[in-house]
Amino acid sequence: MNNLPNDLIASLKEEYTLSPLSIAKVENSKDGSRKYLFKLHDNFTVETVLILMKDKQYDEDGKITSKEKYTICISSQVGCKMGCAFCFTTKEGFKRNLSAGEIVEQVRLVQADNGIPSTDGVNIVFMGMGEPLDNLDNVSKSIRIFKEEDGLAISSRRQTVSTSGLATKIEKLGLMDLGVLLAISLHAVNDKLRSEIMPVNKAYNISSVIEAVKRFPIDARKRIMFEYLVMGDLNDSEQSAKELVKLLDGIKAKVNLIYFNPHPGSKFNRPTVEKMTSFRDFLQNKGLTATIRESKGLDISAACGQLREKHLNKS
Ligand code: SAH
Ligand code: SF4
Repeated sequence: MNNLPNDLIASLKEEYTLSPLSIAKVENSKDGSRKYLFKLHDNFTVETVLILMKDKQYDEDGKITSKEKYTICISSQVGCKMGCAFCFTTKEGFKRNLSAGEIVEQVRLVQADNGIPSTDGVNIVFMGMGEPLDNLDNVSKSIRIFKEEDGLAISSRRQTVSTSGLATKIEKLGLMDLGVLLAISLHAVNDKLRSEIMPVNKAYNISSVIEAVKRFPIDARKRIMFEYLVMGDLNDSEQSAKELVKLLDGIKAKVNLIYFNPHPGSKFNRPTVEKMTSFRDFLQNKGLTATIRESKGLDISAACGQLREKHLNKS
């Protein structure tokens, strides 16, 4: 912008940045997913993951054509206050909230770096580092920017907010009526175990979360997702599956079973494939929609926080 006065250019340079993030590191997984470590203006780092999927479609002649679909998993905070026992992100505590600009920029940079021409076919999940509902102001602002036609034009029905269960904030998000999907990180079916592995449960117990979920507005065709991190010999028994079915009775729910992803120093076990499969089959036989999450990018230290940790250990 050479037509601007020199002192204005100088002060713009001094006070503003065009992009609040820069790429510090990228890791590619064999399955095509890519994990980004982004550096913020104050040298903190956060992670963003791009997951590729082929979407089957049929052309006019009924032939199968495939279309690329992308899911971008974004961070909302540097670190996390919640202290979940199985999670790497929280190990170094909480540093700060991300601004709406820093949240949106993660998607813009991943899109640009991968030559993704439009946001058609892009899904966003707030499942990276941090607890999105602990940064609701900036997260809701970013959801609006994502969904606006003048923003990134990603429908809010293609955006999922994942939370460890801050019941009052779930209500608040619901009242904003943004149209986003909700995922609850449940991980345990009774308050005793849940409080042990997720301290947030002491403030908002399971029934308060379920009550908030029941009041959350969702599209009639959609479901609330319940994430259930399966840890060997801890929450993978048939009794747990039974209690889970009972707990979700009356909710339009789908359960996503996740293999615990071990990290250095973690004291939990990855469940066996047999246990995982029989847990899923039990839920399905009781009429609950249940899937096992493919561990995309396991070879690139997929669970949130792990790439950042590797980077910190080196530097
Ligand atoms: N704070 C939010 C969103 C970020 S965490 C939440 O807790 O929902 C995103 C998901 O990663 C959560 O379901 C979380 O339980 C899961 N996760 C954390 N540590 C993990 C690990 N070691 N292996 C697999 N999943 C993990
Ligand atoms: Fe925070 Fe989610 Fe990790 Fe729990 S699982 S510590 S809420 S990022």
